[in-house]
Amino acid sequence: MSLDQEGFDGSHPVVDQELVDAAIELCRSRFPGQDWSGAAALRLDNGAILTSVAPEVPNGAVRLCHETGAICEAFKLGRRVVASACVTLADEGRGFWVLAPCGVCQERLLAYGPDVAVAVPQGPDPREWRSLRLRDVQPHWFGRVFPEENWPLT
Ligand SMILES: [Zn+2]
Repeated sequence: MSLDQEGFDGSHPVVDQELVDAAIELCRSRFPGQDWSGAAALRLDNGAILTSVAPEVPNGAVRLCHETGAICEAFKLGRRVVASACVTLADEGRGFWVLAPCGVCQERLLAYGPDVAVAVPQGPDPREWRSLRLRDVQPHWFGRVFPEENWPLT
């Protein structure tokens, strides 16, 4: 994949190694030595990267996803999200695994349209990843019945 501009392949945003590395770096700096951790990184339309982690809570039913904080920050800044990557470290020996966004985060990211790029595992090894657009991750998303000029939501 050749990138003519950081995080873009032609006119479409893509997840690049810098974005995945930002999530990994946050895991390492925020949870040093911890067996289980995770983090997310989002690229904005101005090229900036936002990162976030999911807070620990006593009731697992109210947990947030790693992406949530960065999605809220992007909205606060009035910027459009163009790419997202989420990683987890289940065991230092196995390395960082890329996680596709959960269904809820797909809905949150789809507010920025079906061309938002997300990192998904590539093949059976979740340390390997590739960039897909949300339209390809969720081709039958309910919002696709509406004209694409409605996206992103403003
Ligand atoms: Zn999620």
